[in-house]
Amino acid sequence: AGILDGKVALVTGGSRGIGAATALRLALEGADVAVGYAHGKEAAEEVVRAVEARGRRAVAVRADAADPAEAAGVVHAAAEALGGLDVLVNNAGVGVIGPLETLSLTEVDRVLAVNVRAVFLASQAAAALMGEGGRIITIGSCMVQRVPGPGGTLYAMSKSALTGLTKALARELGGRGITANLVHPGPIDTDMNPADGPYAAGQAALTALGRFGTAGEVASTVAHLAGATFVTGAEFAVDGGHAA
Ligand code: NDP
Repeated sequence: AGILDGKVALVTGGSRGIGAATALRLALEGADVAVGYAHGKEAAEEVVRAVEARGRRAVAVRADAADPAEAAGVVHAAAEALGGLDVLVNNAGVGVIGPLETLSLTEVDRVLAVNVRAVFLASQAAAALMGEGGRIITIGSCMVQRVPGPGGTLYAMSKSALTGLTKALARELGGRGITANLVHPGPIDTDMNPADGPYAAGQAALTALGRFGTAGEVASTVAHLAGATFVTGAEFAVDGGHAA
């Protein structure tokens, strides 16, 4: 039996990268999984089929996290489709890196809407649905703990808000037996940050292990937190020592 047998999880941004690996890993631990996506319908459906191949139920749920109604609505859609919600993984995010003077107001608003506001709204909607044992796990970034060079003002600002949110959620929901935790990936090989990209070697060199991580290496920590019963308000670096 898996540690998540009988549980229902929603992974936002489950169609690719860290989210897709997390959806599969949670299914391996026994959860039924709603796979959130914005544009990648086919990719999300592929993840759904892979979850089903592991003997779990799955559904793809579309929502643009930049839209506040959709950011909350995806939680209700997942719970309706799979009959409740036990685990929310706030993973969908956008990485906008660039010199301070090039970051437009439109980009500032979009990054804050997707990386911050949507996480708040989804967590709020999930908390209203969850019972004892509910889990809210959010994907932050190693740039919350260490910004190793220029270009990260907007992205690091957006991810840092998740620290306050997670600690406050832990305090607010602890009495109901619901936990909230935050995972900070280091450089992870995905579409957002390919291990063969132009900035990859520099990022790998900033880690203690001297390499990129895999999406599965983040997913295993998320799965652990989904099963953990006495961990809340905490932050976990899965960053190869980027913050060391
Ligand atoms: P990818 O770009 O590979 O995947 C992003 C996922 O988020 C996709 O499933 C995408 O869905 C979804 N998404 C993007 N925008 C929206 C939106 N507006 N509404 C709903 N869903 C959206 O990213 P990663 O897997 O690399 O990153 C996942 C998380 O990890 C992010 O929060 C990122 O900031 C964080 N992170 C990543 C690191 C890395 O090195 N890769 C390092 C530190 C943190 P669709 O395909 O449908 O557009």
